[in-house]
Parts: sequence; C-alpha cells; structure tokens
Amino acid sequence: MANNEESRGLKSLFDWFANRRKSGSTSLERQEREIADGLWHKCSKCGVLAYTKDLKANQMVCVECNHHNRVDSDERIRQLIDSNTWKPLDEHLRPTDPLEFRDRKLYSDRLRETQDKIGLIDAVRTGLGQINGLPIALGVMDFRFMGGSMGSVVGERLTRMIEQATQRRYPVVIVCTSGGARMQEGMLSLMQMAKISAALQRHKDARLLYIPVLTNPTTGGVTASFAMLGDIILAEPKATIGFAGRRVIEQTLREKLPENFQTAEDLLQHGFVDDIVPRTQLKNTLAQLIALHQPVLTTPHMVLWETMSLTSTAAE
Ligand SMILES: [Zn+2]
Repeated sequence: MANNEESRGLKSLFDWFANRRKSGSTSLERQEREIADGLWHKCSKCGVLAYTKDLKANQMVCVECNHHNRVDSDERIRQLIDSNTWKPLDEHLRPTDPLEFRDRKLYSDRLRETQDKIGLIDAVRTGLGQINGLPIALGVMDFRFMGGSMGSVVGERLTRMIEQATQRRYPVVIVCTSGGARMQEGMLSLMQMAKISAALQRHKDARLLYIPVLTNPTTGGVTASFAMLGDIILAEPKATIGFAGRRVIEQTLREKLPENFQTAEDLLQHGFVDDIVPRTQLKNTLAQLIALHQPVLTTPHMVLWETMSLTSTAAE
C-alpha cells in the first residue's frame, strides 16, 4: 500500500516535472518566435529581454547594462535627423563587380543577396537634413551590408555628400561602422580612402566643421581615413575602434594585449577621440557643437554686433 502511494507520488511528481518542462519549452518556443518576429530583443551583452518598442524608445541602449546595441542606418537617421527633413542623396549609385571577384561565392551574387535581404543598395546612406533645426550633411554606414565594408559606392556617395556640403557650407557628420575596405573590389576600394580624405580637406579649407561618430566597430580602412580626420571626433561608449584586429596584432607581437585595448575609453585616454557620448545624448551634443561652430558671419547677432561697432566707429 505504502509502495503504491509512494509510486503514485513519484508518478505525479514526474508528471509535474514533465508538465513544467513541457510548458517551459512552449513558452521558450513562443519567446523565440517573438524574438524572431521582432517583438522582443535580447541584449547581446547581459541577455535581458526587452520589448523592442521600449528599447527603440531608449535608442536601442539596454536599460539594464547600458549596452549600446547595434542600430541600422534607418534607425540611426530617425534618431539624429528632425522628422520630415531628410533628403537622401545619390541613391541611384549601384555597386558593380569590375574584377569579377569570387571567394566562396561570386561577389555579384553576394551583392544581390545582401541587397534583397536588407533592402539597401550599399553600405552607406547619405543625405541632407536638419538636426535640431540646423542643416547638416549626414552619412550613416550600415554594418548589415557586408560588415559596413568600404567599396566604390561607399566612397563615391560620401565624397559627393562632402562636396555638396562644401558648396552649401554645411557641417558634415559621418556615423562610422565598418570592418574596413571591401576586399572584393581590390585596389578600387583602397582608392576611396584617398578620395574621401581629399574631399574632406577641401571642406576643411572652406573652414567648415566635420564630426565623425565612431560606433562599434570602426576598423580598417575607415579608421585609417575619414574616421580619424574629424575636427571633433566622438565615439559611442565601449565601441571597438582600431585598424588591425586584436588577434592579428597579438599574433604579430606575440604578446597578450590589455583587456580595454581598442575601446573608445582607451582611445579617449590616449587622445585619439575627443569625447565619448552616450547615444541618448548624441543628437543634442551634435546640435550644440554645430551651433557653436556656425560660420561667424551667418550668425545674426554677430552681424548685428558688427553693424553696431561700425556705427560707433562712424560716430567717432
Ligand atoms: Zn544589457
């Protein structure tokens, strides 16, 4: 009898665990489905689940651990540019495959697949818009497109945008994220570094402001050119910023590198970046910096001040 009761007890306990596991797996499946559907977002740092809507309201910064989750170019433009002021530039420029390059697959196939998957033509979007009412030219790289690699279209779009900005006397902001030059375009991708840098020099000669914003990760040819040419260089917290990767350097030097190597914080300490700005403050910081660096003669109170001093000179 006791044995019977015992076995019944065990059975019910077994059932209870089995049910629990079953319901657990169902909720896990549902959770995974919801994550896949984009309702939920799992923080890649602390693993906390957050409603995508809440996370977007906090600009994709985790409320638990302050991790800056990656944002795509659409979201970034929404975060930085005043609504209804964005005018995209050079959307017609499309990448080609002049070298007919093939690695595991043809470069032309890789391009087409990526374009179909994420709905972008290449790894940067450029345009004109306003930031708290101030006009700017903005370039935003998108890591989803072949790791934000810099090919001919990235170079050409950025160059044309900088040239427009020089003509219109607009400041330039480029939000960088890149794995480096696009190897599939060989020399042509490396030439973009010089081309963009030359356009930036002409922008600088016109005494105009350029601010790159380095986000996670900014590496390779982008770091070696326009990411480091800013008048004021901003970075997002904990962003990886470097030229060659940690593993390559460790293997070459045969030395273990410090934990914070190539982080925005380390670069700030060594003077490579000017400030680390949390994403939630980025728009206002950029707007403030741009307002402070407005060309002097176009600021109304300066014109007024000059008129007044001229009048007072005339009165003497
Ligand atoms: Zn987190």
